[in-house]
Amino acid sequence: MEYKADALVLRAADYGENDRMVTLLTAGRGKIGAGMKGVRKAGAKLNFASQPFCFAEYVLAERGGRYTVTQAALHEGFYGLRLDLAKFYAGAGVLETCDAFSAEGMPCGELLVSAVEALSGIETANGAPMSALLSFLLRAVELAGYPVTAGDCAVCGGKMAGRRRFDMASGRFTCAGCGNGVPVSGVTYDAICAAVERRTGRCEGEGHPSCLDGETRAVRLLKAYIAYHTDAELTALTDLLSL
Ligand SMILES: [Zn+2]
Repeated sequence: MEYKADALVLRAADYGENDRMVTLLTAGRGKIGAGMKGVRKAGAKLNFASQPFCFAEYVLAERGGRYTVTQAALHEGFYGLRLDLAKFYAGAGVLETCDAFSAEGMPCGELLVSAVEALSGIETANGAPMSALLSFLLRAVELAGYPVTAGDCAVCGGKMAGRRRFDMASGRFTCAGCGNGVPVSGVTYDAICAAVERRTGRCEGEGHPSCLDGETRAVRLLKAYIAYHTDAELTALTDLLSL
């Protein structure tokens, strides 16, 4: 059986003498592992398709539930991510988040589209890639069923200003005096609101100025939130935040 699909390489691991196993994110079949024979040989034609970040149309041969890549046509390699350490870690953070929120047989079309858009945004960002990464993380948690909801206090319903709390279980914010979530600064909250506004054109309140410090703090909060719901290690996001 042959299966043809656009896919993004989330991970790659060497095995054998010249072979590599890739973990692919596909729209129709979710996350699948596929062997690539001989791709580590000098001049191997499909070497490009065995690298993380590669977005290509893959042709896979399927036998007994195992996939082997037989052809690949490149859409985008995102090679620019390798030229800047922060962009590289942010891109790798996108991949590990996809890994955490996907499974074999689970349709992942929207996650795949969001990830490819995010990698493009990170690659072409002027300066720090936090804004594109934050938008992706918010979209990813929403697709996974753990949306982050910005707005009035989730407990007392009051308007909030300054410091707040974020409840890891519900993904909602409260005032500093309500609930027992983790403390969150005003700039973090503003960065999240601005990211929600950029994507949906709406957010409770208005005129949230986003700054790099707030975006970085918001990425840190989202990393903790994803880890809370998935037990994923998210080492690339950890590396990004320690630069
Ligand atoms: Zn409150």
